[in-house]
Amino acid sequence: MTRPKLLLPGPIDIWEETLEALSRQVLPHYGDDFNPIWLETVSMVKEIFQTENDVIIMTAPGSGALDAAVASLFEPQDKVFAVNNGPFAGRLIEILNAYNCEVIPIDGEWGLPGDVDKMRQALHHHTNVAGIAVVANDTGVGVRNPVEAYAELAREFDLPIFVDGVSAMGGYDIPVDKWGLDIAVTSSNKALETAPGLGIISVSDRAWDIINSKNKAHRGWYYDLGRWKQLIDQSPTNPYPTTQATSLIVSLHASLKRIMEKETLKGHWARYAWAQSAVRTGLRALACHPVVADDAASYTVTTFRIHEDMRSVGELRDYLIAHHGIMVANAMGSFENRVLRAGHMGKAGSQEYIEPFLLGVEDFLRTVYKKDIPQGLSLEGLRETTKQQIPKRSKSSSGGLR
Ligand SMILES: *Cc1c(COP(=O)(O)O)cnc(C)c1O
Repeated sequence: MTRPKLLLPGPIDIWEETLEALSRQVLPHYGDDFNPIWLETVSMVKEIFQTENDVIIMTAPGSGALDAAVASLFEPQDKVFAVNNGPFAGRLIEILNAYNCEVIPIDGEWGLPGDVDKMRQALHHHTNVAGIAVVANDTGVGVRNPVEAYAELAREFDLPIFVDGVSAMGGYDIPVDKWGLDIAVTSSNKALETAPGLGIISVSDRAWDIINSKNKAHRGWYYDLGRWKQLIDQSPTNPYPTTQATSLIVSLHASLKRIMEKETLKGHWARYAWAQSAVRTGLRALACHPVVADDAASYTVTTFRIHEDMRSVGELRDYLIAHHGIMVANAMGSFENRVLRAGHMGKAGSQEYIEPFLLGVEDFLRTVYKKDIPQGLSLEGLRETTKQQIPKRSKSSSGGLR
């Protein structure tokens, strides 16, 4: 069987120039070949995060970077208010619990954005709070949380705000400095569009003050951000304590160049917004309704309920792999049986992926369920509906939208 196209919420199919960069001979993590690549990569990450804060790039999955940042910003017994409205919110709470923080979860329904007033009410009843934690884009439910409003709330109570921005950073407009996000975390394999393996963390000056003032006993060695900060100050060209995952950094560099120079950051966001709209419009035409309302829908992953006549999500998922070479993801937790997730990051955010996905769902409904879909799925109609959002692309760009 040929390899399916990935429409997953990570990892993702990556563009040719990024793939080519991954295949080059390994570089040492210092010296004239690597240093300029490193410095340029950090500077592009800062542009994407819209920040002048320090940025750390470590060898870790997204969860590893969250782990390091939680361990560094918080200490055992710290009282942390956490938005709890999806599986990755649950993951972040587990990490906080692993460091014996006292988590105050502000529960919300899956599929709805977090309720900022509910957190405000709760904050009024507590003293000695150490911070607020929120997942920007919960990849498990495909919902965007109102990070800007949480950041305002944090300012109101003079608290640091910790943002799990994995699957968010780069996918849409999250200005770290303008909103005052103290910690923002992402990984290499979501909207930054390369292979898994790098964890990326931005740290504000206020967060450094807190990190330097806190108990370090529970932090370990590699995952103590304080250690990284010393190196940033002492050795700005090579500010890392170990061998770096140079091949991944070289590929991240290639991917960010592609985003910043070929696509432009705004063009990248526009492509994701177009992909979101195309997927949602197409699914609605097939009576497979998106879980999340338009105004809180993720730009990087769409969760949708399977058609009411369908028996199981697995059936559609397997059919798409077997007959259309398309791989989407099962949902998590309580969504498991009625919801599927289609990611539209990386190459999946293109007509070349979205068209066969929607046609595959249509074919499944017609073939397996003998569903009559009146006009069928009109791709011309789909293009028409979403045309305004299709970003212009330069002649030199390879692949992507047609
Ligand atoms: C993907 C993701 C993670 C976890 O990333 P890993 O690299 O699998 O550890 C955490 N939070 C969010 C919001 C994610 O999308």
